[in-house]
Amino acid sequence: MDKQTFDLLVLIWTAIALLIFLLLLFVTAPYGRHSKRNWGKTIPDRIGWFVMEVPALIIFLFFIITGTAEKTLAVWIVAALYVMHYLNRAVIYPWRIRVRGKEMPLVVALMAVLFNFVNAGFLGYYTGTLHTHYNGEWLTDPRFIAGLLIFFTGMVINITSDEKLIRLRKNRSNGYRIPRGGLFERVSCPNFMGEMVEWGGYAILCWSLPAFSFFVWTFCNLVPRALSHHLWYKNHFPDYPIERKAVFPYIL
Ligand code: NDP
Repeated sequence: MDKQTFDLLVLIWTAIALLIFLLLLFVTAPYGRHSKRNWGKTIPDRIGWFVMEVPALIIFLFFIITGTAEKTLAVWIVAALYVMHYLNRAVIYPWRIRVRGKEMPLVVALMAVLFNFVNAGFLGYYTGTLHTHYNGEWLTDPRFIAGLLIFFTGMVINITSDEKLIRLRKNRSNGYRIPRGGLFERVSCPNFMGEMVEWGGYAILCWSLPAFSFFVWTFCNLVPRALSHHLWYKNHFPDYPIERKAVFPYIL
């Protein structure tokens, strides 16, 4: 596929994210605390996470390995960062969560598979075949260095916040408690904030349209979900800290 067609497809895909953003402001994706039984067949949460996220890893690696561009060190670094994230999300995270007996609608998992399929395909194809700037010089470019720092900052916030939430559950219970400490004192969903910072950093260090598109998709998925979580906390806990925002400290 030539670069012009590729860019057009990515732009159309990014425009779809904006429509999904509007939709998600009114319809909360029914998994986790927002899970619903009237969305058809369900599958166990843990399996759902694996099924949803593992295609992102396989498709991306397929395009990197079969790609025709030279496999420079910069290509491998860009690929390794992505793989690091998805090894956690597809393999470690589903194994760590405490969701005994919980189910999610199959249709939600399939929608996430589609989302991951397309994003991973665009990112993998660009990195493996289309890129023109992942050479030795790119590794000392300020965009690469700044993006890398932002990426790791976001990753640390995301993983440590997820971990804190996982640890809130003890004694095989599936209940919810008010998270306390660290960034949770500022926002209800620091894990989502971390994920957005991470992919924002990735977009900067990649400096590519598909990486920017992936950031937009992450934002469009997670901001509405954070608003739903925040409202859910306020509705379920009368003593929920009023100064806490949903996802961006002091802002939203
Ligand atoms: P949540 O914050 O809703 O849940 C994370 C885990 O912690 C779940 O197992 C949840 O259980 C549990 N949990 C959450 N809050 C509490 C609480 N107050 N008390 C006890 N347990 C709690 O995150 P999501 O499930 O929506 O997302 C998980 C990860 O996936 C996040 O890191 C997110 O950033 C990422 N993600 C990325 C997307 C993207 O577009 N890139 C899209 C969606 C998610 P339960 O499931 O039972 O509620």
